[in-house]
Amino acid sequence: MDRISCDVCVVGSGIAGLCAATAAAEAGASVALVCQGALCSGSSFAGTTWGLGMVGPRTPAPEDVEAFVRAVQGPGGSKAQDAYVRALGNGFHGALERFRAMGAVIEDVEPGHGDDRAYVPCFGSEVQDWHGFHALASVQGLRNQLCKAEVGVAHHAEVVSLLHDPADGAVAGVLALVGPQASPLVVRAGATVLATGGAAAALSPTLASPLARGTGLVMATDEGATCGNLGYGQVMAGILTKGRPAVFNEKVWGLTRLVKDGRDVFDLAGVSPARAREALEAHSWHGPYSRQRVSRLVEESVAAVGGTCEAVVDRPEGEVQPFVATYMDWLEETHGLSWGEPMPLALFHQASNGGVRCDVDGWTRVPGLYAAGEVAPVFAVDRLGGIASATAMVFGLAAGGAAARGVMSRRQEGRRYLCFRGEDGAPQAVSSLEGLSPDGAAALGEALAGRLRTGAHDLVRAAMDEAGSPF
Ligand SMILES: Cc1cc2nc3c(=O)[nH]c(=O)nc-3n(C[C@H](O)[C@H](O)[C@H](O)COP(=O)(O)OP(=O)(O)OC[C@H]3O[C@@H](n4cnc5c(N)ncnc54)[C@H](O)[C@@H]3O)c2cc1C
Repeated sequence: MDRISCDVCVVGSGIAGLCAATAAAEAGASVALVCQGALCSGSSFAGTTWGLGMVGPRTPAPEDVEAFVRAVQGPGGSKAQDAYVRALGNGFHGALERFRAMGAVIEDVEPGHGDDRAYVPCFGSEVQDWHGFHALASVQGLRNQLCKAEVGVAHHAEVVSLLHDPADGAVAGVLALVGPQASPLVVRAGATVLATGGAAAALSPTLASPLARGTGLVMATDEGATCGNLGYGQVMAGILTKGRPAVFNEKVWGLTRLVKDGRDVFDLAGVSPARAREALEAHSWHGPYSRQRVSRLVEESVAAVGGTCEAVVDRPEGEVQPFVATYMDWLEETHGLSWGEPMPLALFHQASNGGVRCDVDGWTRVPGLYAAGEVAPVFAVDRLGGIASATAMVFGLAAGGAAARGVMSRRQEGRRYLCFRGEDGAPQAVSSLEGLSPDGAAALGEALAGRLRTGAHDLVRAAMDEAGSPF
């Protein structure tokens, strides 16, 4: 069994984990980053579309932050913590500059287009400060930065339990299983940041990274953290391609016809042409399913005809809106699909709007445990487009910094006896892992990972059922 010790252990290398690890290292902590996928993985790097839209207030001025807070709280049904949304707005511009300095490739709105209605993010009604995160183009720069910051990395290492000190319940690191051999790795840490992403892949079918299984939710609740708004996951249409499904970008809904076996889907679902047109036009302003808006007729009609159909996007007369042009070009280049062609469409679980509750520094109220990114948002019913990636960036940086500061007063030397969660969730001494055979380690890993995956599915499913989700 391998053991390492560090000040801060970060779990996950999506936007949130990369930001947390860098911020913790910049604050002077020794940092280990452990992630199940490759370094730079998760929904942040899933490549299901050209990149991620990222929004914040138009400027850092108080009135723009206030407008941003309103824009987030409106679609969220006022269920998000005000302090959290305000911290997102206030932290956005500074965090964006830090993220760029880390090597992220960020596109800005072209000069002169800042007031363009096309930059109203989905679920919003006002223009915000829009940016595009080019995930794949950013990978090398972000990896180089971690290297410079001397962050130790264990990739292809699935965390299957947090470690805790039974003396005071403090979280003190993680147990991970590394590589195809599932070799145990114990990381002792003064503070742990969970950045394990959302839970959309706990349900099926999903557009999210298959790594977004919500296992962090179970690990956090095992140690006494609580979750909020888990019942409000985002459901989105996607195109079935030869590889991973591709996002069906919201901006093309107004140009789309839905067809099943040669017949109009709305007609089959008993929706009049006028209501169908209204629903499609409304849907062009927000991608995911909304239970609060007229556009719900689109997904509900697709669901009524069995959950799949064909989408045909008709080229408009005159100038094509920039967002639509970017998306259609990407679709043609990446998947060979173009205007006027029938594309197979289905409904997918896409992202979480709820997760582990924590304060604006990512602290979960469990000593030593922080959370950031899609494992921790509590935005509720509908989420303003572009704030998932912004949240991962802003609160990833905040949690990494806070974890590093917190750990300075709580070094690890005193902690001798640590436990992980066994197959039944009960604490088991880390020393019981000593001398485990390779087969024994693999069997243990499978059992612990299985428990987390089933737990995440059950947790999210129950919350969605309670919230009355139709999916
Ligand atoms: C198709 C699609 C389109 C999207 N479009 C947008 C958009 O335009 N704008 C926007 O703001 N948001 C968008 N989102 C949401 C956004 O991608 C995510 O909210 C954001 O990237 C989450 O970042 P994260 O760092 O929290 O998690 P992720 O990027 O998912 O990273 C999670 C990390 O945790 C690791 N991990 C998970 N479990 C474990 C474990 N048990 N042990 C070790 N490591 C683990 C994974 O390997 C990965 O490195 C979209 C999501 C999808 C699926």
